Amino acid sequence: MDTVREPLLVLDGTLRIRSANRSFFEQFHVSPEHTQGILIYELGNRQWDIPALRKLLEEVLPHNTVMTDFLVEHDFPVIGQKAMLLNARKLRYEEEDLILLAIEDITDRRHFEIEQEHFMHELANRNEGLAQFAQVAGHDLRTPLSAIAGFVHILQRRYTGQLDAGFDEFLGRMVESTKSMADLLSDLLQYAQVGEVSGPATHKANAEQVLDTVLGNLQPVINANNAVVTHDPLPSVSIDPTSLTQLLQNLIVNGIQYRRAGEVPRIHVSARQDREDFCLFSVSDNGIGIQAEHRKNIFAPFRRLHGDERPGTGLGLAITQRIVERYGGDIWVESQPGKGSVFYFTIPCLDSAFLSHPSVD
Ligand code: ADP
Repeated sequence: MDTVREPLLVLDGTLRIRSANRSFFEQFHVSPEHTQGILIYELGNRQWDIPALRKLLEEVLPHNTVMTDFLVEHDFPVIGQKAMLLNARKLRYEEEDLILLAIEDITDRRHFEIEQEHFMHELANRNEGLAQFAQVAGHDLRTPLSAIAGFVHILQRRYTGQLDAGFDEFLGRMVESTKSMADLLSDLLQYAQVGEVSGPATHKANAEQVLDTVLGNLQPVINANNAVVTHDPLPSVSIDPTSLTQLLQNLIVNGIQYRRAGEVPRIHVSARQDREDFCLFSVSDNGIGIQAEHRKNIFAPFRRLHGDERPGTGLGLAITQRIVERYGGDIWVESQPGKGSVFYFTIPCLDSAFLSHPSVD
């Protein structure tokens, strides 16, 4: 018993202490003389006199029960506030029934758990606060912005070609700026809302159907750029269809947007099995590519490599990363500058044809 690091007590049938190990004497600052033969409730100024503990201990011998992880939180006069887990069971020794009581000090662990709970709670609150702030700001800014856009439109209709050339150019720039700001607000809202599902959550999407929807949404961009988007058979996946739409749409738009001059943009979407229960999707393009040093940081919000020469908010990849990580997956890019890029992401898969261990259902 003395080699065990947990404090141990052996009690007889009347709950008097028969013996204790070294760890018990050390941790509770008591000596063997003040311990042996004493009723457990009377030990150290009756600090173990806890009715619920007494009831449980009294049942161990008559009913041969095992007491498991009974939590005691107590302010001990000498050693201070402690949280302990008590475990007790019957012990037969030299024809006598005894109780072996093991005491595990979990004070530090409890502190840590309480701190962690507190921290998680605070983090959740702050996250919620931030999401709400982004939403309110997004909505509230939209109203004045659409008023500005409306008036600029009227000015353009009434006065284009009637005042000097500078005036037409300034109006054109105002139209562009209001459009950029509207895009930014809508992306900010999307970013803040990642993971919020309106209506009942359906964490099931058929990637081929979703891709069809995406191609429908992107028809004007595809036509304007003469882009060619192809795909292999795609699986059903365990994420909500809106999130998958955002994911594929952002990556395909980028593949078209960051095209090489004089090349028909060619985007190909493919999927295969990854680690257990996950599928690895790839969206490849033949665009301008991305230098090695930028391949990680383009996923951070507002990180743009091609600044002003191409439209964009710098939030598309941040949104995709947030979605993928929410589902326990990863996203990364491989690229050959001047030749093209392949964006890879992993998400939970439902399709047995894409899994090495087909699911039972
Ligand atoms: P945005 O496209 O609005 O700028 P994103 O977050 O979608 O924002 O992309 C961040 C940056 O990563 C882009 O500005 C661009 O420089 C680079 N990038 C993204 N996708 C591609 C791609 N397929 N090919 C080359 N560069 C890309």
